[in-house]
Amino acid sequence: MQRLVYIETYGCQMNEHDSERMLRLLEGLDYTETKEASRADLILINTCSVREKPEHKVYSALGRFRKLKERKGTVIGVAGCVAQQEGERLLDRVPYLDLVIGTHAIPMLAQMLERIEVSGQRVCETRFDRSGEYLKASLPEKPLAKVKSYVTIMQGCDHFCSFCIVPYVRGRERSRPSLEILREIRHLARMGVKEVFLLGQNVNGYGKGLEGEVDFPSLLNRINATEGIERIRFTTSHPAGLSDALIRNFSKLEKLCEHIHLPFQSGSDRTLKAMHRGYTRESYFERIERLKEACPPIAITADVIVGFPGEEEEDFGETLDLMEKVRFDDLFSFKYSPRKGTRAAELKNQVGEETKQNRLSILQKIQREITLEKNQALEGQVEEVLVEGRSKQSDRDVTGRTRSNKIVNFPGDMNLVGQLVCVKILKAYPHSLRGEVALPSAD
Ligand code: SAM
Ligand code: SF4
Repeated sequence: MQRLVYIETYGCQMNEHDSERMLRLLEGLDYTETKEASRADLILINTCSVREKPEHKVYSALGRFRKLKERKGTVIGVAGCVAQQEGERLLDRVPYLDLVIGTHAIPMLAQMLERIEVSGQRVCETRFDRSGEYLKASLPEKPLAKVKSYVTIMQGCDHFCSFCIVPYVRGRERSRPSLEILREIRHLARMGVKEVFLLGQNVNGYGKGLEGEVDFPSLLNRINATEGIERIRFTTSHPAGLSDALIRNFSKLEKLCEHIHLPFQSGSDRTLKAMHRGYTRESYFERIERLKEACPPIAITADVIVGFPGEEEEDFGETLDLMEKVRFDDLFSFKYSPRKGTRAAELKNQVGEETKQNRLSILQKIQREITLEKNQALEGQVEEVLVEGRSKQSDRDVTGRTRSNKIVNFPGDMNLVGQLVCVKILKAYPHSLRGEVALPSAD
């Protein structure tokens, strides 16, 4: 019997990928995806608890779906970090919730749904799976309607930065065997994927704990040799473990795109120490220098937090100074959000909301200008773009990304999808570029 599933996803790329994994498993159970929650037989909310705001969204989303439960008995589930963190408490708090899927429980989705169907039980599964089974990918059976795909190479984190909930909700760092990853990537290439985006909370730690396994730079080397794959990206690299071998890969591996996301979180040594980040402002600069030396065109993006407990004006000033010196292509900036169970949440010197908001506004204004200037520097240049599909802005345009991960829209047919096209950049905007197919030069 054909049934419909609606998935709402909050948070990072790992969550987006987990939603894709759940969809793939559900397709095997005869579910088809719908974009309309009102038509669904099953609604899943895939959640994020890294900050308070996305966590709150879960409860408002559940409130919206309550009527559907009452009207047509839709099965409702919560997955992801909030599910892992709250577990049974979520079932107590939300009486119309059927299913709580912890971060390691995705492979058990079919059994969990069966239990609901057969015995009408409400089900919660939040045990951490020590076998590593939860990392196994289910491979697509049909060609995919997309040119790029996420590939999990590891999950969890052992860093325990003092502000961060991830190690508690995703568990300890665990890598997938490289042969399994390579098999998945070869399969994706056969299904039409051209770009793989490798995911892990701390990719530099890849291979730790797996006997005889390759390290991350060697894994990239092997992926680079995969036929059919044109581009490789990864996230996230922790500044403390950024090795010379990884930096060299940016100049050596032709498929590795010239972009790194290297969160710095703060420009103040005092704050970095309190965050337990394991590097200093100077050593961060030094890594940026080495990256730019090895690969001059590299685009650098990062995450930064303002208003960490004890952050004074002077510390914030150092964050702005670091930003202005590095000149990031883009920044993801956040107000510090206390997370229960983390060490920073217990600190007494919390910063007031107004100060956090002011600092965030100042920082974002500066970054908007830098991002626009960086984009404008590309005007007149020819960039290689992997075409991903129709542009949202016009049905005569297609959209894709440069190797440096910038969005480019340009006039073109859908038969360009999946192709690498040379595009001349005509105009830069804060979040995208506009261009036209570059004509081959006369000589
Ligand atoms: N593993 C990545 C790293 O260390 O760079 C980061 C993963 S985390 C899910 C993504 C970003 O969320 C972090 O880089 C940090 O800037 C932000 N973040 C994490 N905890 C936060 C908190 N309690 N308050 C505000 N931002 C937070
Ligand atoms: Fe969180 Fe730090 Fe681990 Fe990143 S490295 S996931 S910020 S604990």
